[in-house]
Amino acid sequence: MAAEEVVLRRLKTSKDIGKFMSDYYHELDAASKSGKQKIAWCTSVGPAEILRGMGFLIYFPETHSAMLGSTRMATELIPKANAIGYSPEICSYLTADIGAFLQGVTPLSKAFPGIESIPGCDVLVYNTNQCRDVQDWFAWYSRKFGVPSVGIETHRNVGTVTDTHVSSIVGQMESLVEPLEKIAGRRLDMDELKHAVALSRQCSDLWEEVLATATAVPSPLTFFDGTTLMGPAVVGRGTQKAIDVYKLLLEELNERIAQGVGAIGEEKYRIYWDGMPVWGRLGPHSKLFAGLQANVIASTYCSSWVFSALDPEKPMESMARAYTELFIVRSDEYKENYIKGKLELFHCDGIIYHDAKTCPNNSNCRYGLPQRLQAQTNIPALMINGDLNDLRLLSDEQTKTNIEAFIEQLEESKV
Ligand code: SF4
Repeated sequence: MAAEEVVLRRLKTSKDIGKFMSDYYHELDAASKSGKQKIAWCTSVGPAEILRGMGFLIYFPETHSAMLGSTRMATELIPKANAIGYSPEICSYLTADIGAFLQGVTPLSKAFPGIESIPGCDVLVYNTNQCRDVQDWFAWYSRKFGVPSVGIETHRNVGTVTDTHVSSIVGQMESLVEPLEKIAGRRLDMDELKHAVALSRQCSDLWEEVLATATAVPSPLTFFDGTTLMGPAVVGRGTQKAIDVYKLLLEELNERIAQGVGAIGEEKYRIYWDGMPVWGRLGPHSKLFAGLQANVIASTYCSSWVFSALDPEKPMESMARAYTELFIVRSDEYKENYIKGKLELFHCDGIIYHDAKTCPNNSNCRYGLPQRLQAQTNIPALMINGDLNDLRLLSDEQTKTNIEAFIEQLEESKV
């Protein structure tokens, strides 16, 4: 199949998102240098709202590690962590991030002039709702900095989220409050907590609307855009600024829909992506698909920051529910139904599963799920081997060949 000329339409609001991220990291950097505000490190789906209710600024190491991936710094840094006993088989976010720390480098300094290092840390707060790796990752920094690492150990393989699940997580969240108050040097303010939950919910609703614009044909958005546009949903939930920037983004996407403008030149095939992005290949992958007139329009990954259960009137309970409803900790039966619903909603012609070598938690193609789903939906599926951050674990040639053959298969099935 001959590749078409590649047309990728950049969103104007990307600049506003870039400014949001720059302001976010500069605020952390200033607090780190002045020592005027406490900084908590938090996992990307950790209890951020509790931390905001105590006045912490929040730094998310996973976002830093995604930057290590997208700047292609990660691959050379991972062996530094391997050398101190962290296996090449475990999360390459963890190994890249610890490797960067050991090497004394960060992509922040190039991206945001004036920042020389990652921010300081007064406490680390995790939720294992993604995986155990985050707990080990934070434990390493806890030993390094001599600060506490506290967190929530979540339920896994959850089918229906029950009151028992929720109440046990509420109990764990409540038991974090006292130790965190000691570090914050102040009490948890319930009004601030409710406010943070309300803002998180608004941010989540807007992010969901942003992602839903991809139901339009042609889609004004690609998955590859989404992986960078999601920055505010991850690091800024619980803040007004994230809401403001997403309102701008939504406006631009709706304008595109009204004008019938798609994110790529011509959208002939609509693809769903399951699993992590390959951070170091976002550009080449987006061009590869666009050149084949295929738009990867939706993903499990970007939707993971939609928390519709958040309710400011029941802050702790609703946080516990929202952070337990997360796709990644759910049963395969739930995941099958979830993906099936997305394939219908986004009118997808095909689905690609990324089997990320070092993240079994976000790889959903190892226990027969794609085959079961294909039998139910008749929607063709492709599995690609790769990794989120370690570029030694993928073959660009193989990926390209497999994707081209897959799009040809979709072409044949459309005839
Ligand atoms: S979910 Fe995967 S990528 Fe994220 S921290 Fe855990 S192992 Fe790493």
